[in-house]
Amino acid sequence: MSSKRLMIPGPTPVPPAVARAMSTEMFNHRGPRFAELIADVTASLKRIFQTEGRLYILTSSGTGAMEAAVVNFLSPGDRIVSLVNGAFGDRFASIAAAYGGKVERLESPWGEPLDYGALEARLREDKDLSIRAITVVHNESSTGMLNDLEAISRIRGNHPAMLLVDTVSSMGAVDVPVDRLGLDVCFTASQKALFLPPGLSFISVGERAWRAAAESRMPRYYFDLRLAEALLQKGQTPFTPALAQFVALREALQLYFAEGRENCYARHRRMAAAVRAAARAMGLELLVKEERYASPTVTAIMTPSQAPGNQIQAMMRERFGIEIAGGQGSLEGKTFRVGHLGAVDELDILAAVGALEACLQSLGLPVERGAALRAAQEALHQ
Ligand code: PLP
Repeated sequence: MSSKRLMIPGPTPVPPAVARAMSTEMFNHRGPRFAELIADVTASLKRIFQTEGRLYILTSSGTGAMEAAVVNFLSPGDRIVSLVNGAFGDRFASIAAAYGGKVERLESPWGEPLDYGALEARLREDKDLSIRAITVVHNESSTGMLNDLEAISRIRGNHPAMLLVDTVSSMGAVDVPVDRLGLDVCFTASQKALFLPPGLSFISVGERAWRAAAESRMPRYYFDLRLAEALLQKGQTPFTPALAQFVALREALQLYFAEGRENCYARHRRMAAAVRAAARAMGLELLVKEERYASPTVTAIMTPSQAPGNQIQAMMRERFGIEIAGGQGSLEGKTFRVGHLGAVDELDILAAVGALEACLQSLGLPVERGAALRAAQEALHQ
């Protein structure tokens, strides 16, 4: 099977124009060409983040930005509340703890909504305002759960705790108005909704967080954003940037704005609705039950008992050249995930749904031929 459809929650397919842009000749990363490029792409990224604040482009995967969000604004011993309902919330909490943060985890079972009431109660009882930060993952790629940033922002209210937010698998595909929601630090990565290869991450910093950076005592070097700020003033980055990725980023952003933010959000909502409708039509159980929490970018489906382990994933790959993801962490073997973000379109969704239907039939599940495709089409064209 030569032609592959990549339908995992990142990396996502890279459009040909973006891939071509990657084959650029090298140039001086401390010269005028780069200075013009970084100014341009930084301004465009701020439009996607909907922020007037600071924004830095790091040569790292998303986890690097997650680490930057911890080490730049906090000090060892700081009290941090980590909201955890999946693998990436867990990672965020672990990084904060690794750097000496006093982490309190507010955990919910994976696939279930965050405990918003517990957050509210915890902040209310924090009379001496000792909680310095709240970490949260907007879109839990491990479960397909879209956590409610509006609610978290409202609950944080006037409490001075900074909101440190992972939007790695949502920014660009889902509306995240950083300034309006008061997200003090927010980050994403290149290989998700912005359809670049992995290798760059983007992090925004609001005024309150920037003031905290001046007092932060956590150890840092590569991810020191004070250095990033100083060098950005000169149109540079502190260390050698992934130059080809920067060139491709401009191309990707042009494609992104040609579709338009709102259209892009709507496309992701439609694709998610189609995958969920198709799963139900095949009698499959969805991990995230409530529609309002269903991720527009990734859907986790419970593995049916007739097809244990990774059989479905393997058959999709071998028979149809479609890559879907298995379950992550504690959900390994229990779920499989369909990624529908970035440069993925309706035809990809119909192909995946049709292929899934065929695989389940081969595995002996009582699936009515065409029912899932019909459900997906209805959802796409509502
Ligand atoms: N956060 C979320 C929500 C993710 O989906 C991922 C990657 O899949 C990460 C963080 C980590 O990003 P990376 O693998 O680029 O380090």
